Amino acid sequence: MFALAIHGGAGTIARASLTPADEMRYRAALEAALATGYDLLRDGATALDCVEAAVRSLEDCPLFNAGRGAVFTHEGHHEMDAAIMAGHTRLAGAVAGVRQVQNPIRAARLVMEKTEHVLLAYPGADELAREHGLPLQPPAYFFTEQRHQQLQEALREGRMRLDHSQANSAETAPPELPVADPNWKKGTVGAVARDQFGNLAAATSTGGMTNKRYARIGDTPIIGAGTWADARCAISCTGHGEYFIRAVAAYDVACLMEYKNLSLEEACRVVVHDKLGPDGGEGGLIGIDAAGNISLSFNSEGMYRACRTEGSAAVVAIYK
Ligand code: ASP
Repeated sequence: MFALAIHGGAGTIARASLTPADEMRYRAALEAALATGYDLLRDGATALDCVEAAVRSLEDCPLFNAGRGAVFTHEGHHEMDAAIMAGHTRLAGAVAGVRQVQNPIRAARLVMEKTEHVLLAYPGADELAREHGLPLQPPAYFFTEQRHQQLQEALREGRMRLDHSQANSAETAPPELPVADPNWKKGTVGAVARDQFGNLAAATSTGGMTNKRYARIGDTPIIGAGTWADARCAISCTGHGEYFIRAVAAYDVACLMEYKNLSLEEACRVVVHDKLGPDGGEGGLIGIDAAGNISLSFNSEGMYRACRTEGSAAVVAIYK
């Protein structure tokens, strides 16, 4: 039994916030990424190849906050994070703060397969991608009008806070930097899969959060926080990264399954609703277990998501 699940980010995605035309575009993009991964699994590809391909498809789509559609940092750059992990070997690779590589998930896989390391960051990670011939892109490739507007909006709000803090603070106090609104303008893409041979894998990729501070790294490339895979489950998270890091969210699902014997669905519910939710950690995660069961859990208003199990129809959903 092979199976695959993908997500395109969780957050305040209310029915009223998407026009029917937008909704169709998101659904079509999710369907395309799901089909890419499903066809590979059906043809005998490994879970690792499948999750990489599905995430690449989402990274290439400007609708999602990863790769091409990555959000802007406070300074107006793009700093992207990605991670990939193979459940059967527990090998993992991740990149953080890359600015040039077209598909950060491919760079993450290079870290896993071509280096002795797990996580490379900033220009060194782009450099690895260049050394291995991955396509690099200029900033214009990652520019989307919608994301640019979102930054302007965040800056306007942030500047007000900045001005306020400067007006009231003593000279010695550092100016308060605007922070990204936790409920606003984030997103991430991810995939988890079980292949015909029983292997599990997870992949996650993101631009992080709009207006994030220079060099901020979220949960996505932190193995165990935003991405995890072992023999029991593969997990890819999306949401306010700082909360997911502090909760070690993805690994916590695996721990609950291992130490408390919870099912995947129960473990995901505990992490998303009992742990992250009450703490203010808005978001969700997708998971798959060794039997090919899938969980799509979120405590936000919506999560772009899709899944398909061998022989069954594809399921695509956005809202609760
Ligand atoms: N988890 C991502 C981050 O904090 C953002 C998201 O998934 O919405 O960088």
